[in-house]
Amino acid sequence: MSRAHNFSAGPAALPLETLQEAQQEFLDFAGSGSSVIELSHRGAEYVEVDRQARERLTRILGLGDDFEVLFLQGGASHQFMMVPFNFLGTSQTADYINTGTWSKKAIKEAKLFGRVNVAYSSEELNFSRVPADSELTLTEGAEYVHFTSNNTIFGTQFRKEPETAGVPLVCDASSDFLSRPLDVNRYGIIYAGAQKNAGPAGLTIVIIRKDFLQKGKKDGIPTILNYNTHLGTMFNTPPVFGVYMFNKVLAWIEKNGGLAQMESRNAHKAQLLYNEIDADDFYSGTTEPASRSHMNVTFRLKDEELNKAFLQEAEKRNLKGLKGHRSVGGFRASIYNACETESVEALVAFMKEFRR
Ligand SMILES: *Cc1c(COP(=O)(O)O)cnc(C)c1O
Repeated sequence: MSRAHNFSAGPAALPLETLQEAQQEFLDFAGSGSSVIELSHRGAEYVEVDRQARERLTRILGLGDDFEVLFLQGGASHQFMMVPFNFLGTSQTADYINTGTWSKKAIKEAKLFGRVNVAYSSEELNFSRVPADSELTLTEGAEYVHFTSNNTIFGTQFRKEPETAGVPLVCDASSDFLSRPLDVNRYGIIYAGAQKNAGPAGLTIVIIRKDFLQKGKKDGIPTILNYNTHLGTMFNTPPVFGVYMFNKVLAWIEKNGGLAQMESRNAHKAQLLYNEIDADDFYSGTTEPASRSHMNVTFRLKDEELNKAFLQEAEKRNLKGLKGHRSVGGFRASIYNACETESVEALVAFMKEFRR
């Protein structure tokens, strides 16, 4: 068996030991004689998985009693609609920070429900940066400020939460969720599709602060789209395999030093790549240095004629998933938590070799 150096943007690499554990217990989970995907989600075995995942997430993020954790489906894209459905009335305003394709999609949905103020946009710069606090044009009394903490396609990331003068943040954290500690009390909602940094596709993690939820709309929301429906109970069948794998990834994060350790390891991996990109003008980064992502490292060759050769040769060295998104071109190395430092080192070694 030869495992790839996997730089896929999503679904993405998961910690090897979580896959091995799942493989080992796949046919007979917890002595049940069945796989975890063949058991009732209301049975004792799965209820325990669900409980562990919530408990671990709460511990890892340091969530107080004032937060609810929901395991939903539909991806982050579903939250683009569900957030304003619950929190943005026709005469209310929300601020949205437009830093990429995903932010734009969130804005489009929000406009169906209420007033949207775009507090900042880097669209004219092909989303090559995120704003400083001083560049935000915020609305006084906004319901919330929505931002995308890491822009998966363009390779930019907020180094810290935007300053909003007390207005709750709503964050699409899909591609850097659990990659570093968060100041959780600044948030009304944090949502993330699991498939970038936390588990397999199919699970969407939503963390919601109770006092923020209180301010939501009270009626006119279809049952399954109302956050209140999902509090403290499984309204319908959850994505059981997703939660099961997520629980294993959480255990792996705890075993490996928690979010502080994830953050320093991710920063180190990113630095290895950016150092190589900046070494001379053979490669160039596609984003402003101060906005560079520690999750998705985007770069290109000065001579784009060589793009195909770069990808082909990389492939031969077992370096996979490096093709950049079509809206940026070039390359993208996605180096989420589970991407090993040695995979990044192998990529850097190849970049040197290719330059020679
Ligand atoms: C991948 C991604 C999405 C889309 O996620 P789906 O689960 O496919 O809906 C949204 N936002 C960000 C930041 C992403 O990286």
